[in-house]
Amino acid sequence: MRDKIKNSKRWVVKVGSSLVTNNGRGLDLAAIEDWAGQLVTMQKNGIQVVLVSSGAVAEGVARLGLNSRPKQVQLQQAAAAVGQMGLVQAYESCFMRQGVHAAQILLTHDDLSDRTRYLNARSTLTTLLGMGVVPVVNENDTVATAELCFGDNDTLAALVANLVNADVVVILTDQDGLFDADPRSNSAAKLINAASAVDGSLSAMAGKGSSLGRGGMMTKLSAARLAARSGTNTVIANGHEKQVLLRLLQGETIGTLLEADNEPVTARKQWLASQLSLKGKLVLDAGAVKVLRNSGRSLLAVGIREVSGKFNRGEVVSCVDESGAEIARGLVNYGEDEIERIKGRSSGEIESLLGYAGEEEIIHRDNLILSE
Ligand code: GLU
Repeated sequence: MRDKIKNSKRWVVKVGSSLVTNNGRGLDLAAIEDWAGQLVTMQKNGIQVVLVSSGAVAEGVARLGLNSRPKQVQLQQAAAAVGQMGLVQAYESCFMRQGVHAAQILLTHDDLSDRTRYLNARSTLTTLLGMGVVPVVNENDTVATAELCFGDNDTLAALVANLVNADVVVILTDQDGLFDADPRSNSAAKLINAASAVDGSLSAMAGKGSSLGRGGMMTKLSAARLAARSGTNTVIANGHEKQVLLRLLQGETIGTLLEADNEPVTARKQWLASQLSLKGKLVLDAGAVKVLRNSGRSLLAVGIREVSGKFNRGEVVSCVDESGAEIARGLVNYGEDEIERIKGRSSGEIESLLGYAGEEEIIHRDNLILSE
């Protein structure tokens, strides 16, 4: 029984190009309808889901009547721009038929390493999830080519998992999972049911016999390792397996589970800690210090007395009490000039003071680490 998967609350599900497009023949609408149905059922059971879908290039190639995937990256990008229309149309109508809205999110890896864009993407995604919308993510192939060249969106799925604090990433592919030898040439090859994502011996298994290029087992393993850094468990499974997502959710042993060694919260805080380069300081009043220390809540403007340093949204600041002792560090949702204008005021006044309404927290509790 895979309890970690069974008791999870937020999933990122990635579907690969060959699955989505019936091995390049064109969108597999029946399969898409089926995954959408499973995702909607999961949602009804209280699981929030983000879908990461490849297949834009493959569908564009089919629509444009090209013989095969072009070698030149700019032609792949053009094909992706055509194919993405088809993907979005298919997801939109499948989810709509089941009474759920879908949303298109196009991201690049750079968006997620830039802290401001990271926070913006995170806000949009978590807002959509809160509204019961299913975000459908792909790489923005017009402006970035990382997944075209290397990943078939495996890495993107791991980055998105980190972005939304997912507890599970499921990578659906056309293979049953990770084997200890190449199943095509070795009939004794055994499916690995579970392993630690950081187990070094897996690399040789993933590398052997599978393509090291786009979307092979190697990129899936690297994606699982990346996801594990923020505490997310990864399952690699066959997308053609009947009701695969729902059965995984019930704890059934399907595919390969690559486990994260750390709990999500600890791992996320470690990850945040590694990003730290302090850009400024917020002096908090006694009430805010108490709230942060004792109740694990977010930092609001009302508890801030002074601001110093030069920083923008998404940068890391130190929060200190009135004697100067550090209480916490965290990623701010506002720059120092904005905080200067809203400090000491209630969240409801932010819109009238700044002329626009942003997040009500100055530092969200997920982005806050208490100092020892
Ligand atoms: N973003 C790409 C797509 O959706 C990734 C897959 C690929 O490399 O073909 O087509």
